Amino acid sequence: MTDKDRIDMQDEDIESMLEEELEEGKDCVPDFEDAEDEANTQGDEPGDKSDQGKSGDSSKDSGESEYEDVCFICRRPESKAGRMFKMPNNICVCDDCMHKTMDSISQFDYHGMLGPNMGNMPNMTGMPNISFLNISDLQGEGGIPNKQKLKKKKKKEGAEPVLDIKNIPAPHKIKASLDEYVVGQEHAKKVISVAVYNHYKRVATNTMDEIEIEKSNMLMIGPTGCGKTYLVKTLAKLLDVPLAIADATSLTEAGYIGDDIESVISKLLAAADNDVEKAERGIVFIDEIDKIAKKKNTTSRDVSGESVQQGMLKLLEGAEVEVPVGANSKNAMVPLTTINTRNILFICGGAFPDLEQIIKERLTKSSTMGFAGELKDRFDKDKNILSKVTVEDIKKFGMIPEFIGRLPVIFTLEGLTQDMMVKILSEPRNAILKQYQKLLELDEVKLQFTDDALQAIASKAMERDTGARALRSIIEEFMLDIMYEIPKDDNIGTVTITGDYINGTGGPLIEIRQGALPMK
Ligand code: ADP
Repeated sequence: MTDKDRIDMQDEDIESMLEEELEEGKDCVPDFEDAEDEANTQGDEPGDKSDQGKSGDSSKDSGESEYEDVCFICRRPESKAGRMFKMPNNICVCDDCMHKTMDSISQFDYHGMLGPNMGNMPNMTGMPNISFLNISDLQGEGGIPNKQKLKKKKKKEGAEPVLDIKNIPAPHKIKASLDEYVVGQEHAKKVISVAVYNHYKRVATNTMDEIEIEKSNMLMIGPTGCGKTYLVKTLAKLLDVPLAIADATSLTEAGYIGDDIESVISKLLAAADNDVEKAERGIVFIDEIDKIAKKKNTTSRDVSGESVQQGMLKLLEGAEVEVPVGANSKNAMVPLTTINTRNILFICGGAFPDLEQIIKERLTKSSTMGFAGELKDRFDKDKNILSKVTVEDIKKFGMIPEFIGRLPVIFTLEGLTQDMMVKILSEPRNAILKQYQKLLELDEVKLQFTDDALQAIASKAMERDTGARALRSIIEEFMLDIMYEIPKDDNIGTVTITGDYINGTGGPLIEIRQGALPMK
């Protein structure tokens, strides 16, 4: 028998053995794996499998493991690729890839590779200039990181629905909880509470006979720093659903530099701890949505404007999207999973500058006609002009009709007034002033603010025109000295911040702790 015959026979043997096993539906784990498992379990207590960190464990108790196996070659998870062959060192290879590998091995020209001296060597170990790579070395100790694995879907039978309709708080309760954190914005809070209530009612019931309830995606319009992001963040926290916040300015059409539109869904998956079921009922907030308006007078391809709006259509409506697990972009080394966006709530927010001008134009056009014509500047002083927005105005701004059509709930937020700023400083549960008071409390110092101090901070913030964001930076500025000086002296009991101190015309009032010696 020649060498070639012997090699061919070996290949045929392996293939026929595999086929037999497949037909019988036997577990195709090679024998050496069984042997290793036996070896692993010999010394182990039954309960401490997981602590051992042994790579063989996951294959052994795959029934209990939280994570799916991923094919080492094609990176598809078990749920997609089917049964896996398990190798030592936690490497799994799917049926397809195993067969492809076997096929290519059988076509390999071993004969040409064997040098003249090696011809009669039975186990071909000494091939010149060829070294074999141990693929498990590439993986490091722990094999594929958990970050890139998918949590297994839980068994449906007997499982409680994730969002029980009885557990969805009624709109007034949702609003009451929002009130604890968000100051003002009464209309916005009301709209969002009802929309969220309807949305999750729809998710929980799933089918509604012939009447299908539509998704309540939202479009939020309001000046910068008025609490758009804060409102959504608070909502997600209260409902305990995963939230992904994306910036529309970084999104581009697939294939161009920038983030793929579907990357927002991978962010959501990451926020849900790679749990597909949890992600499928999460919230995606896309900020700066006005920046993807159609570009006017452009001759080049609008890859970050209109194309992004078009690319988002199917996401907003509900589609199956393939997203990479544990990474932002799809590439060969990352496993993919499918997420259905049907029950994901999309909230878009933007400041829409110049929208006011468009609304004013429309309003004056309609009111200056005929005898009942009114003055052109009638709307110039109207502070709530934004709340008169219509779909037509948004279309004129540059959003395509299909896009607006998929955001049926449109509402506006008011710009913050000085009084609202004062409330933001002190009223919400985690108000900035409360945070500082807590910090100084740890040093047993009482921090107080006079009313005129609060007004002074608010009026300074109003000048900056960046909404409530300005508050924090103003407070940081004058609290620096206080936070630096107070811990120096143990006798200080109370510090009162006055309007004069904020305006730079005086200092804070400092009281000495009772029983302490007066300051020199
Ligand atoms: P934007 O509208 O630009 O998204 P944000 O929601 O990010 O603004 O607001 C910035 C910060 O200002 C928030 O983190 C929050 O602390 C504060 N803030 C803004 N508006 C309010 C509000 N109405 N009530 C309480 N805090 C607010």
